[in-house]
Amino acid sequence: MADKIERVLVITAHPDDSEFGAGGTVAKIVKEGREVAYCIVTNGNKGSSDRTMTPDRLAAIRAEEQRNAARVLGVEHVTFLGYPDGEVEDTRDLRRDVSREIRRFRPDLVICQNPNRTYNLGASHRDHRTVGGVVLDCVYPLARDHMAFPELLPEFEPHKVREVYVMQWNEPHIVNDITDVMDLKIKALACHASQFKDFAAVEARVRARSKELGASKGYAYAEAFDRIVMI
Ligand SMILES: [Zn+2]
Repeated sequence: MADKIERVLVITAHPDDSEFGAGGTVAKIVKEGREVAYCIVTNGNKGSSDRTMTPDRLAAIRAEEQRNAARVLGVEHVTFLGYPDGEVEDTRDLRRDVSREIRRFRPDLVICQNPNRTYNLGASHRDHRTVGGVVLDCVYPLARDHMAFPELLPEFEPHKVREVYVMQWNEPHIVNDITDVMDLKIKALACHASQFKDFAAVEARVRARSKELGASKGYAYAEAFDRIVMI
């Protein structure tokens, strides 16, 4: 990663998305001494098969789980935008909120989800696609242009992001070796206990996919991204 990258903002739809898609990469970035923050768009309040669970209780549980997972990886700041799970739309409000968070944290690198539909339906959840697309629109041009969202001024001055990593497994630009931090990624993922009936099975699946992603480079475990460099 380029030396000029000092601040990294990971913007995802749900609590647990960052750990699944980029937990190893985040752990490595933190170990390199760079500052990482999370922005989670929804409160994850639909992610339960427990019929006695209420959306409010689940949102509180998932926020706590996300804060714990971030702590495991060394991420100090976690912001929740509080949008309802499963209902994210590409609205002006969401674009303003995401632009505000980019302007607030002022990252050099933004990590986000894939805006395109793929046939991996879990990774290609509707909220992931919508949030991924909105994040790219906010990186360019909305967070950068002072006339976009004049109501954000003067508190949130425009900010230019240098690079974007888009979580992406299909012929990715970057295959990132996470072998050294794979155990930490798994530990962070395990914090999202409300999401897993059988964590051993989830761990096996995550390790298998990560192994598959690393195979082309000879890495034991990897995460993969497309990389966009802003000029
Ligand atoms: Zn998700």
